[in-house]
Amino acid sequence: MTNTSVDPETKKVNSAKGRRDGLDLIQMWKLDKEERGASYKYVWNNSDFNAIDPFKTDYLLGLFQQDHLDYELERDQSDKGEPSLPELVRKAIQILSKNDNGFFLMVEGGRIDHGHHDGKAKKALYETLSMEDAVREAVALTDEKETLIVVTADHSHVFNIAGYPKRGNDILGVVDPLFRQWYPLDGKAYTTLLYANGPGFNTSGSGRTDPLEEVDDLHDKDYVRNSGVPLKSETHGGEDVAIYAKGPMAHLIHGVQEQHYVAHVMAYASCVGLNKDHCRQTNTASSLHNNFINSCFILLYSLVYSIIL
Ligand SMILES: [Zn+2]
Repeated sequence: MTNTSVDPETKKVNSAKGRRDGLDLIQMWKLDKEERGASYKYVWNNSDFNAIDPFKTDYLLGLFQQDHLDYELERDQSDKGEPSLPELVRKAIQILSKNDNGFFLMVEGGRIDHGHHDGKAKKALYETLSMEDAVREAVALTDEKETLIVVTADHSHVFNIAGYPKRGNDILGVVDPLFRQWYPLDGKAYTTLLYANGPGFNTSGSGRTDPLEEVDDLHDKDYVRNSGVPLKSETHGGEDVAIYAKGPMAHLIHGVQEQHYVAHVMAYASCVGLNKDHCRQTNTASSLHNNFINSCFILLYSLVYSIIL
């Protein structure tokens, strides 16, 4: 049995690294809901999270780690562990969709970014798969006629799928020497997945390790891919990122746009902000859409390339 009465992480915060202002924000959140007579739950492990009845809970605060959630590949799935991104999305939508006035939900698959910074492509890709499952949950639990779902990235990484691997080549493996169009000038094998910069550069050797000779298992979640410039942490990239939309006003998301445009689309589609005239119309095709909008949902992720894998 899991002891769900004491959160060891909260205890840690309250002792060694507590807030300097001494505020207990969790307690304050609880008191606020108490005073308003609302149904609420605060949870910090799988056991309590899974026990929540979303149809009897109006407010839910889940704090499962001191810092970021674990990588999906390292997540503790036991009762004392933490929920996955799709599980979190499912519970959030079940709770929020009870509101007749609609809802706004923002979800970030934040660890895609961290996997890349460490040059650990496998971790980043599995985080992306988790994000894909989260999007699938959101699509399944909402109605396309009334919910706008937007999926995008805040930036890319200097991550490459390159080297002319043959069709069907292991995405985590090396490019088959027989199919290499150009033989590497240093004679070493190379993987399809590479970084332009980051920790995968051997400054004491010839620049890069040979994946065939020096790495036992390219499928290890902690294998650091070769990089072209030695940096402690791989960096973000500067190219355009993809954005996908589904639901009311999704037609406004197309082509190349500045980032701030996305926020305006969501406000416009949700009938909030300054431009609400279209929400009051009753006899045009576009107003037909807006009359049905009662929810707006956005998913964020941090790497555009991974969605094609
Ligand atoms: Zn980052």
